[in-house]
Amino acid sequence: MEKTLSIIKPDAVKKSVIGKIVDRFESNDLRVAAMKKVQLSEADAKAFYAVHSERPFFGELVEFMISGPVVIMVLEGDNAVAKNRDLMGATNPKEAAAGTIRADFADSIDANAVHGSDSHENAKIEIDFFFAQREIV
Ligand code: ADP
Ligand code: MG
Repeated sequence: MEKTLSIIKPDAVKKSVIGKIVDRFESNDLRVAAMKKVQLSEADAKAFYAVHSERPFFGELVEFMISGPVVIMVLEGDNAVAKNRDLMGATNPKEAAAGTIRADFADSIDANAVHGSDSHENAKIEIDFFFAQREIV
């Protein structure tokens, strides 16, 4: 079974829609294999988003990701990486298809409710960044 990393970002945690977002995954055959609520440090956020370090929005992205707790999950299922990306919708909620998580819960391109791994290779790296093997069950 394929695995992917999902993060419910600080905006969605503040809105108390953790349960509604998890329901989208469970209702679409993505099983929660690991889950924790974490306050990321600046160093955590910089390391996690290192691929974006040269992008103009990097500073804002890091500030946003440490602005409150996040919920980090490993999701497992057939085609988990692509399925999660479909359920999330486009990065900019204004462009996200109706019924997607970002269309329904995101406010802006930075406060966009969820993160999801964009490839099988990155999913493995991101899962290893946050979880020990014994936490994935
Ligand atoms: P995604 O989260 O859809 O995979 P990216 O990997 O391209 O999108 O970007 C990572 C995160 O950086 C986005 O989810 C968003 O929070 C933020 N971001 C991306 N592009 C912009 C932008 N132009 N302005 C502000 N924040 C952005
Ligand atoms: Mg991305």
